[in-house]
Amino acid sequence: MLDFKELALEQEKVIINWRRDLHRIPEVGHDLPETAKYIAARLEEMGVGVQRNVGGHGVVGLIRGRTAGKIIALRSDMDGLPLEEETNLPFTSEHKGCMHACGHDAHMAMTLGAARILQEKRNQLQGQIKLIFQPAEEGPGGAKPMIEAGVLKHPTVDAILGLHIGSIFPELGNGQVGVCYGPAMACLDSFKIVVKGKGGHGAMPNATVDPVTISAEIILGLQTLISRELKPSRPGVITIGKIQGGTAYNIIPEKVELHGTARFIHEEERQRLSCRLGELSRQIAQAMRGDCEVRYNYGYPPLENSPTFTKFFAGIASSLLGPENVIEISEPTMGGEDMAYFLQHVPGTFFFLGGGKVQEGRIYPHHHPKFDVDESVLWRGAALLAATATCWLKENS
Ligand SMILES: [Zn+2]
Ligand SMILES: [Zn+2]
Repeated sequence: MLDFKELALEQEKVIINWRRDLHRIPEVGHDLPETAKYIAARLEEMGVGVQRNVGGHGVVGLIRGRTAGKIIALRSDMDGLPLEEETNLPFTSEHKGCMHACGHDAHMAMTLGAARILQEKRNQLQGQIKLIFQPAEEGPGGAKPMIEAGVLKHPTVDAILGLHIGSIFPELGNGQVGVCYGPAMACLDSFKIVVKGKGGHGAMPNATVDPVTISAEIILGLQTLISRELKPSRPGVITIGKIQGGTAYNIIPEKVELHGTARFIHEEERQRLSCRLGELSRQIAQAMRGDCEVRYNYGYPPLENSPTFTKFFAGIASSLLGPENVIEISEPTMGGEDMAYFLQHVPGTFFFLGGGKVQEGRIYPHHHPKFDVDESVLWRGAALLAATATCWLKENS
């Protein structure tokens, strides 16, 4: 283990420079030509075989060990956010209106760092390592197109590991590792309800069907799905974030649109309550002489870690960084993650690395124009990825 710590520390500067280079050129969604080019170039410099344009701008590297053996994948996201950066960093974004404000620049740099360590040690590896760099984590999703393009096959991936840096879990100090033995993050679903009434004069509601009143009933009614129909010990959220309807104070409109998000940790509850959301909305609207149309969009699934793999990972992390720096996350976050698709197909774990940067007396949250990461923890991420991949291949050869 000491070995990996030293190897990662030796290239701390290189990892930080990669992160800064990538920070300068943030790109959004599926359109990441410069980022993909940068990653592919770094991998090729190391001598790693590269496949470009996998499911869009996805980049895949393959490190071949001494024996064919099993395959473990290391996954990093690649995309930034449509946000104007306000950090004043010397390596601030050169792409106007785009910013790496979630730390995906750091994920790429750490994964490249791990790749370099593993490529140097390839003659000792008992298996192969697939490096998966995926676009569009912040939406609309890059994992699924890569899976459909066959990234988990030829050769078939047996286990997968990925991480998120930052301050998502405030219980993690910088450099500490958060592990979660099972469901760790929620699904990321959205829905749109169009409530249809019959418009008319605000003073004569009896001659209309008022979609505003119906919407109010639906908004409150949907909260009873959480309070009355979800098992109290299981988390779930339904939020209506946008209401659109009406043109004047004295006009009852024809329709009102409600836009919201729904988050569940367990797939079976997600399926059940998403059906109930439509059913309840329609029946409330019909009970009030109106009607409604419900469009529910199933986004990223809930993210579920393999308890066995996570235990293995936590063991490696403890010996690498000390058991006091490996913290069990007992409460999942209701945020979503595209990594969930990979974990639906392959056992593995998605872990968290504490690494928010304190500035002006506070840590600016993810997706904030002043967000930044603590670069002094980056070598830890690279060491964790490289050590886990090596040890897992050895254990499963
Ligand atoms: Zn994000
Ligand atoms: Zn992120």
